[in-house]
Amino acid sequence: MNETIKAMLEKYNVTPETRAFIEAGHQKMFIDGQFVDSEDGATLNIEDPSNGEHLLTVPKATVADLDRAVAAANRAFRTGPWAEMKPNERQALLFRMADVMEAHAQTLAELEAIDAGKAISGCHEVDIAGSIDFLRYMAGWTTKIEGSTRNVSCPGEAFGFTLKEPIGVVGAIVPWNWPLNMAMWKMCAPLVVGCTIVLKPAEITPMSMIYLMRIWQEAGLPDGVVNIVIGTGTEIGSPLAGHPGINKVSFTGSTPVGKLVGKAALENMNPATLELGGKSAMVAFDDANLEDIVTGTLQSVFFNSGQTCSAGSRLYVQRGLYDQAVAAVAKAANDMVVGDPLDTNITQGPQISRRQLDKILNYIESGKAEGARLVCGGEQVDRPGYYMQATVFADCNNSMKIVREEIFGPVLAVIPFDTEEEAVRLANDSDYGLTASVFTQDVSRAHRLLKKMEAGTVFVNTHDAMDSSLPFGGYKQSGIGRDLGPEQLEHFLQVKTVIMQL
Ligand code: NAD
Repeated sequence: MNETIKAMLEKYNVTPETRAFIEAGHQKMFIDGQFVDSEDGATLNIEDPSNGEHLLTVPKATVADLDRAVAAANRAFRTGPWAEMKPNERQALLFRMADVMEAHAQTLAELEAIDAGKAISGCHEVDIAGSIDFLRYMAGWTTKIEGSTRNVSCPGEAFGFTLKEPIGVVGAIVPWNWPLNMAMWKMCAPLVVGCTIVLKPAEITPMSMIYLMRIWQEAGLPDGVVNIVIGTGTEIGSPLAGHPGINKVSFTGSTPVGKLVGKAALENMNPATLELGGKSAMVAFDDANLEDIVTGTLQSVFFNSGQTCSAGSRLYVQRGLYDQAVAAVAKAANDMVVGDPLDTNITQGPQISRRQLDKILNYIESGKAEGARLVCGGEQVDRPGYYMQATVFADCNNSMKIVREEIFGPVLAVIPFDTEEEAVRLANDSDYGLTASVFTQDVSRAHRLLKKMEAGTVFVNTHDAMDSSLPFGGYKQSGIGRDLGPEQLEHFLQVKTVIMQL
């Protein structure tokens, strides 16, 4: 462990578990209930985005490792304690798994903040508490999966009914922006219905998943039910998506990769849930409450350093409120507190990597070149690590790249409009359709607009509020299927029809 990392762990007085995890210098992946290295011993380096320093190494899986994980998941699905568990026993286990997460919340938050550069306060609130809440919410469904009886009219005396059965082994692939939380979105519903899982974390943020496996195993999760295979997208993600030994693909990530993953799934006639990118619109009318708009931007485009799929990164403001709104969001951007992820006083950590930071800086240049007015930010923060100033561009229009493309950084584009029709047209003029929001005090207008918005979730007078019970997913290029809520369960169930001749 180098001096920078050592000093950081000291300064923030991390838990003994966090310290031991990093001090170990190497962590293993999790296959068939064992913490293992890759069969050829290859490793990947994990770095701390707040200073660019080396944290530890993890195994770089081979396809043979992946095959072993898929075989273990198949075994656990068909035989052994998981396959034989009654729904109420599985429910009790899932609640225990949530309880151990709560008991280890501080360590999970610290590992996530260090690995992904997340501001730890928001990480506690959203990544960790949100994950635990979702597991508990979903666990409640374990005993409530139902088929139905039908009033059949087929010849003779017959009894017809349906059974809902788990689909089988799920191949899950997740991104780096919410490493634990997105993995939980992928794992809870399949576990509830009795599926088993092979999950690939993003290769740059595997730490919280490794720790989670440790504590879930302690809670009693049987071997082979969840397997964590670490590797790059092309080397492990692609073979996982197209693996003949899985029955369902559940992916969260970018739209271009999602399309590849969807095609690979279809080759095996497997269904795929695809949670993809976004470029979400916030539409604010003259009668909107300015504070609500500011809160909406803080909760979305400036939260998590702007690395949020549902970020309201396009803000359309009616002309009468335009100047005030630009000033208010610029003040909010300037007030962002940048610092060490483990510092509870900060509101913004670094971007995940040099690559992401450079991508954002290129968008800043593009915005300037296309004539957007840079109101604040626009520069890398002068400190080690990959920090970016929260940035507001005003006087943008829908032909600019910064308005059309997902930047995945703390960059807000503000665009004026005059009429309601124009606002709807501009907001819907996007390839994406993940979320949208409407800010107005006029209830009738809110209802009119929420129906017209082409997005999987529409917020009114807020942006990026989530709840475990409400489905989340995209229209248009933002994806197929839904995570969260009871709707998600259907993606992991198949219907069996039974006709009994009496
Ligand atoms: P990404 O698509 O590059 O990677 C996502 C995952 O896919 C990673 O684990 C990666 O290793 C893997 N991968 C890469 N190439 C692959 C391939 N050819 N085959 C199989 N797997 C492959 O995305 P990212 O940069 O990690 O994450 C950011 C993106 O995720 C953004 O577009 C964001 O909007 C999206 N996202 C969407 C949601 C949602 O719920 N809709 C949530 C979070 C993030």
